[in-house]
Amino acid sequence: MPLRTDWQSAWRDSINDPYKLLSRLRLEEIAARISKTAAEQFPLRVPQGYVKRMRRGEAHDPLLRQVLPIDEEMRLAPGFSLDAVGDTQARAAAGVIRKYHGRALLIATGSCAIHCRYCFRRYFPYADENAARDHWRDAIETVRANPGIDEVILSGGDPLSVITSKLAELTDGLRRIGHIRRLRIHSRLPVVLPERIDAALLQWLASLPWPVSFVIHANHANEFDDSVDAALAALRGAGVTLLNQAVLLRGVNDNVHALAELSERGFAAGVLPYYLHQLDRVQGVAHFEVPDERAKLLHAELHSRLSGYLVPRLVREIPGDAGKRAL
Ligand SMILES: *Cc1c(COP(=O)(O)O)cnc(C)c1O
Ligand code: SF4
Repeated sequence: MPLRTDWQSAWRDSINDPYKLLSRLRLEEIAARISKTAAEQFPLRVPQGYVKRMRRGEAHDPLLRQVLPIDEEMRLAPGFSLDAVGDTQARAAAGVIRKYHGRALLIATGSCAIHCRYCFRRYFPYADENAARDHWRDAIETVRANPGIDEVILSGGDPLSVITSKLAELTDGLRRIGHIRRLRIHSRLPVVLPERIDAALLQWLASLPWPVSFVIHANHANEFDDSVDAALAALRGAGVTLLNQAVLLRGVNDNVHALAELSERGFAAGVLPYYLHQLDRVQGVAHFEVPDERAKLLHAELHSRLSGYLVPRLVREIPGDAGKRAL
């Protein structure tokens, strides 16, 4: 049995040196592909447990590709911007984004346990924009003042990188607001740092007065292992509904086999597929892009192969739309 560690020390143990990561994986021969500039702009960060799920000596490992800063990121690509999803405009109060009917999205924090190279958040100033910084006061007031909000979504960054007592502070403030009917948490931590799903977190979740859903974020079946299964089972035990959103990524999951495996592996762990996103077009991610025509073809093939409930909705976020747009 591995030694049980608390999640914050597991997080502190993360690897943040790309050369060290490659030597761990016996992949020194691809060190020339690392971009130091990219690593300075958005540092490598990857928990040890996630590294264990990468295959040794496999330069094209789908998990490694998601975290390694490489030269392609520095190539300027036309049509790729800095605020691809219009978040700067939809800001309702510090750390609160209201784009869609009935839902308020709270940027709980700017930090994440893992740094995903394809993520648009590498440019958004979420570090200053977090809703937790004033004991959630503005965020709670915004929700209270808007009776049309019936679902509160915690996002980030990764909301579970906020300590549990601080999360409880938020939900204590929300408890007295009668129009809230659901709480949703968007987090990659059950997958990348399953240690985070500890007794205190489960106790907090079980104490909440609303139905709670988690939208986890796994892009490949290899991201699941026993530790992830155990964390997800514990969440379900606390009454949480589990959904997955993935991003369609070239070189990671852009084939029918990988996508089908992802749905099936997730379902085996109690997770239903929710969204398959076309990535947000920010600078530095063009090498991950899958053209829409190919995305639609893959999605159609998936549909012809799997049970209907194992097929995620293929969507893209378009600034100004009333919801995620189906492709
Ligand atoms: C994606 C998103 C939501 C949630 O949309 P769903 O389609 O309900 O999952 C809510 N608010 C913002 C700002 C979003 O970007
Ligand atoms: S917000 Fe999500 S996708 Fe982006 S870096 Fe953090 S964990 Fe990765």
